[in-house]
Amino acid sequence: MRATTGIRIASLDGGTVEVTQGELDTLDARVEGPLVHPGDEGWDDAVLIWNRTVAKVPALIVQPTSARDVTAAVDFARRGGILMSIKGGGHNIAGTSLAERGLTLDMSRMRRVTVDPDVRLANVGPGCLLRDVDRATQEHGLATVLGFVSETGVAGLTLGGGFGYLTRRFGWAVDNLEEVEIVTAAGETVVANRETNAELFWGLRGGGGNLGVVTRFTFRLHEVGPTITGGLILWSADRADEVLRTYRDLT
Ligand SMILES: Cc1cc2nc3c(=O)[nH]c(=O)nc-3n(C[C@H](O)[C@H](O)[C@H](O)COP(=O)(O)OP(=O)(O)OC[C@H]3O[C@@H](n4cnc5c(N)ncnc54)[C@H](O)[C@@H]3O)c2cc1C
Repeated sequence: MRATTGIRIASLDGGTVEVTQGELDTLDARVEGPLVHPGDEGWDDAVLIWNRTVAKVPALIVQPTSARDVTAAVDFARRGGILMSIKGGGHNIAGTSLAERGLTLDMSRMRRVTVDPDVRLANVGPGCLLRDVDRATQEHGLATVLGFVSETGVAGLTLGGGFGYLTRRFGWAVDNLEEVEIVTAAGETVVANRETNAELFWGLRGGGGNLGVVTRFTFRLHEVGPTITGGLILWSADRADEVLRTYRDLT
């Protein structure tokens, strides 16, 4: 059931603040994506995270569809001193994507991937799961370094460093991150790469998030597949001498 009389929401100082229905309506008018209240359709999916033992429940969810929506939500949170969190794939084991009684930005409506095979770059939305990126890049026989489990979020994985199947060959996810677009806490949308806002870019590549809301990741791509060899290789124990000697020489 949709709230009609405003809500109480967690504030940055540990207390709560009252948000009037008028303020919610103003936010609603500024964002294209929906505001989701407890009990609304889609609420359960929006608060679902990988670690089901985490019992944090936000007071309000915004599902942005663009950097502009993110800016509006960040402005709303900043002006009200409201506790805010960002949910990518929801795989952080401590449940940091959910703001207890606060505002959570659920990025699941920003899952677009565009691939430019000529320059070997992919622009990736912050709500993408690993599988979204792999599927889009593999259409061109390309891939970037992400993780092992396709349900994981690209955002949290990358901002934490990110390693996976291709790491031994091409480095960490952040080694292959060329650029981000990010909405800062001041509500500004900026680009960060190795030349522009380089210090911010450095912090984003492993700092674990919270330096702003990333609205686009740009990854370098590599030729991979479409046929790859993987999985377990087994030999019978009576060939152990031969196999271990070969493995030692090879490595
Ligand atoms: C089953 C499983 C398998 C995993 N496998 C791997 C693996 O192979 N390789 C690896 O490196 N890691 C792996 N991890 C760890 C995983 O990368 C981290 O838990 C990561 O935080 C998940 O990202 P997410 O977007 O799903 O998380 P979320 O919980 O949604 O987000 C994690 C944190 O990232 C920040 N964040 C999210 N989106 C944004 C954004 N747009 N802008 C700014 N900050 C943002 C938020 O602060 C949030 O608190 C795995 C985790 C699980 C549970």
